[in-house]
Amino acid sequence: MPPIKSSTIVSSYCHGSTDNPMRQNVTTEFVLRLKREVRGEVKTLEPMSKHTSWRVGGEAELWISPADLDDLVHTMALLDESGVPWTILGKGSNTLVSDNGISGAVIHIESGFTWMHHTAAGSSPDTVSLVVGAGTPIAALLRYATQHGLGGIERLVGIPGTVGGAVRMNAGTHLGEIKDILVSVKLLRSNRTLVEIDATGLGLTYRHSAITPGEIVVEATLALTKTDPEQLRMLLRDTKERRQKSQPLTLPSGGSTFANPPGDKAWRLIDAAGLRGVRIGGAQISELHPNFIVNLGDATANDIDALIQLVQKTVEKRFGVKLRPEICRLGDWEPQETGNI
Ligand SMILES: Cc1cc2nc3c(=O)[nH]c(=O)nc-3n(C[C@H](O)[C@H](O)[C@H](O)COP(=O)(O)OP(=O)(O)OC[C@H]3O[C@@H](n4cnc5c(N)ncnc54)[C@H](O)[C@@H]3O)c2cc1C
Repeated sequence: MPPIKSSTIVSSYCHGSTDNPMRQNVTTEFVLRLKREVRGEVKTLEPMSKHTSWRVGGEAELWISPADLDDLVHTMALLDESGVPWTILGKGSNTLVSDNGISGAVIHIESGFTWMHHTAAGSSPDTVSLVVGAGTPIAALLRYATQHGLGGIERLVGIPGTVGGAVRMNAGTHLGEIKDILVSVKLLRSNRTLVEIDATGLGLTYRHSAITPGEIVVEATLALTKTDPEQLRMLLRDTKERRQKSQPLTLPSGGSTFANPPGDKAWRLIDAAGLRGVRIGGAQISELHPNFIVNLGDATANDIDALIQLVQKTVEKRFGVKLRPEICRLGDWEPQETGNI
């Protein structure tokens, strides 16, 4: 099947994603200044396939992993002063980066923002307040919570991203979403002011938040409940096993590609439309779970994008349902024509 081109639907991927219009003129002098002044890692022409769970995507002009909050603020100041656009990335487990790469800088929020500590919350003897850095991997958070018997965290089991990405996406499972346990976040605004916002002010709905691309989550406070560590461990193990049986976890993917429409399941509609197993290039609609698009080894971002559009058009034509991509689309995408499916 030939790749299908369209731009009408893709622009709505993951509200607020940036499609940078052109390559920025990142000069050698500017790179040297960044390397001198930023304490974290600074790289040029970094392949994004190394940093996304789909293992696709071209190069980021600049790749910066700030060492801590001060370093992040200084990085933003330097980029803003030089007019270089920036994009935030966590573990890239919900992101499709264009084969053309990303103009400007990718600011990576992970190792410089990894911390966890908990205290009694005060609201009830069983409630615990857990403060966690936005770069903390969800897997590390789950390990910490299990060790300390902090229940409520089970709703995040199996999610391979960071805490910042989870807040931005209001990530969750059939057991609930991060919104249910989120008390507040510290957000760094594009004007570099740090604000603390109550979770109710983040516009968290199903796999969506009102956090804009100019806002960076740097810390989250969660309300958890004292639980028997062994019971929690068993619940996490059982849920993980269920996911291993029902999801194609041995191949690179972006997790669920589409949000479930009200009252239905995206995978059911994709399956009923006869799309299970359909391939474009090296990308395939998973045989095991049709809401996953897997990279069979040599997929490009264009292959995946074309499958996304094929699914949207076919499902809309068959069932009148417009599936909303759950994934974020970043980078320099070609202007595309509307497809004819
Ligand atoms: C195998 C697999 C299974 C998955 N299962 C689930 C699941 O069960 N439930 C679920 O909800 N998701 C699931 N996902 C999707 C993904 O793991 C979640 O959406 C996760 O929360 C994304 O985190 P991340 O750090 O990888 O975000 P990224 O992909 O790096 O970024 C996603 C978006 O968030 C923004 N962002 C990232 N960090 C920050 C920050 N600190 N501040 C502001 N914005 C930020 C980015 O700019 C981007 O727009 C799955 C993915 C895979 C590959």
